[in-house]
Amino acid sequence: MPGLPRLRDDYDFVIVGGGHAGLQAGLKAGLLDKTAAIVDRGPKYSRSYYAPKMDNLPGFPTGISGHKLLDLQTQAVRSQEERVGLFSPARASAVVRRDDRFEVTFDWLKQTHVARGRAVVLAMGVVDRIPEVGGKIEPIFPWANQAIVDFCLLCDGHELPGRSVAVIGDDAFAARSALDILEFRPASVELLTHGRRLLGGASTEERTALTAALAERGIPVFEGTIGGFDGIREHRFIVEFADGSRRSYDRGFSALGWYDMHQELPRSLGCRFDADGFVVTDEDCRALAASDGQPLPGVYCVGDQRNGWNQIPEAWATAERAVIHAWSAYL
Ligand SMILES: Cc1cc2nc3c(=O)[nH]c(=O)nc-3n(C[C@H](O)[C@H](O)[C@H](O)COP(=O)(O)OP(=O)(O)OC[C@H]3O[C@@H](n4cnc5c(N)ncnc54)[C@H](O)[C@@H]3O)c2cc1C
Repeated sequence: MPGLPRLRDDYDFVIVGGGHAGLQAGLKAGLLDKTAAIVDRGPKYSRSYYAPKMDNLPGFPTGISGHKLLDLQTQAVRSQEERVGLFSPARASAVVRRDDRFEVTFDWLKQTHVARGRAVVLAMGVVDRIPEVGGKIEPIFPWANQAIVDFCLLCDGHELPGRSVAVIGDDAFAARSALDILEFRPASVELLTHGRRLLGGASTEERTALTAALAERGIPVFEGTIGGFDGIREHRFIVEFADGSRRSYDRGFSALGWYDMHQELPRSLGCRFDADGFVVTDEDCRALAASDGQPLPGVYCVGDQRNGWNQIPEAWATAERAVIHAWSAYL
């Protein structure tokens, strides 16, 4: 068992979030002989923790689960424990700039602490919205845990050829996801709006265009309220509607977008967000200011929280870019 980290007076980096991006940022800082504090709520809050099998990661030809990969990354960070402290489970509640330092306030071991650093790396990720049945998110968990229901088209689309797919969602993102799934040559795609009107919040122009595209590509829409799921033993996704009808699919796909984009801390630092709510950065992952679009000195954003592709290789690459930039520019 590794010992508890000791909080230093001052760090080169304070990294908020220790998922795939934050852990990689911490590892890189250590390898560059810099100090870092990683403040992380815990792996159960990482998006990938519930991903049973990920197939796109070099070095794992038969795939690897999200929690196993987080374990391996954590071990790598621990190898740098002389310079890198991993504070977890610890929740960051505030970040402020004071002169040439950032102060990150966090709760850890039932006490409030402050980590000071010359650069701050925001790596809090985003949290998926989970389909609710009767006001609860738990009913779909068994299907999600067995990868019968997916959340990430770029991650799991390759599993869909020849399969019947139910897409859950009612807005433009859901309609576009249903259309995008056709790229993977499924046997069929249906859109389940779960009691909501399809594209109810969209502009007339967007609604007309997407409704026409769905019809043209043969994607039927079912607006009934979902009452439950069945078929787990047969490895199927059977949707039971409140009116008693049932529809059976090989796979489900949740296209509900994000529940939490962790905007509070970046907003307090003056970061700019794009139209979808992601932090806007430049190529070096420097966060840009909401006021004038210029890089905020010393503020970086990496992984899913920044505007880019929400994938682990991207989380790693953005973490490397940010740390190397800060190393060469500030440290
Ligand atoms: C079901 C599923 C399957 C996926 N499959 C794949 C795949 O096959 N291949 C692939 O490349 N990608 C996959 N992804 C995407 C991948 O999970 C994300 O791209 C990746 O997790 C992003 O890493 P991150 O570090 O940015 O965020 P996360 O891994 O989500 O980590 C964010 C971290 O921030 C911490 N945090 C949040 N708020 C605070 C706070 N206030 N204080 C302290 N810590 C905080 C959390 O505890 C968490 O550990 C999948 C995602 C899902 C949901």
